[in-house]
Amino acid sequence: MKKVYAAPDSLRAGHVLNLLQQSGIEAQMRNLYLGGGVGDLPVNECWPEVWVDDADEMRALALLAELSQVEAAPGPAWTCPNCGECNEGQFTECWRCGTQRPE
Ligand SMILES: [Zn+2]
Repeated sequence: MKKVYAAPDSLRAGHVLNLLQQSGIEAQMRNLYLGGGVGDLPVNECWPEVWVDDADEMRALALLAELSQVEAAPGPAWTCPNCGECNEGQFTECWRCGTQRPE
């Protein structure tokens, strides 16, 4: 199995999972229930991950590349007004505390 995607929220990972499955790729989600354990682990190791069979890796990555071209270009990084965390532009809420991005 190969990891082809990781996302800070399960909604996004689920979207990718659906996309791959609709394209006939047998994809699996991992780490879905580890979100509550953030603390000792580096945060991005707790992100939901999408895994596929080795044989499907190239096709899956090609599909994901298409997906990222279709999606709107991410805006600039922003700082969370609640906890001060720096978030990348594609996130609409703070990955650390869940506060919505200010307008
Ligand atoms: Zn925050």
